[in-house]
Amino acid sequence: MVLPISREIADRILERSSYDVDPPLLELIHPIKPEEVNVYPAPSWLMRSWKADILGATYGRRIYVRPSLFDGDSDGLARLVIHELVHVRQYDEMGFFSFLSRYFRDYLRGRFSGMNHREAYRAISVEVEARDITSVVIA
Ligand SMILES: [Zn+2]
Repeated sequence: MVLPISREIADRILERSSYDVDPPLLELIHPIKPEEVNVYPAPSWLMRSWKADILGATYGRRIYVRPSLFDGDSDGLARLVIHELVHVRQYDEMGFFSFLSRYFRDYLRGRFSGMNHREAYRAISVEVEARDITSVVIA
């Protein structure tokens, strides 16, 4: 049986935060519109495939976050949503296969060059861009 899972709209999560994100964020994630992106609490079967330090993940136009984050501070959730919205745009631009192949190619390149898991993850080009845009938007 599939349980219905509640969702929120990224736009509403951003509105509840203390960040004034509209002009820079909307340009940097164009043509993605936060009011069209759904944010779901991640089901437990999905989180089993996540490392402990993963707070959320994007699959196409769906953002999944650890359910506990919905009860935490609204700025923390908004920061994560901004990061994931960048991935929504990257996914949209590259398509499923290019996004995933770049993701794993960058990760493996890092590992083969001697980085540990965390360093290789942080060096993935789409992760670097998502972090950079998040810090620009909420600076
Ligand atoms: Zn990311």
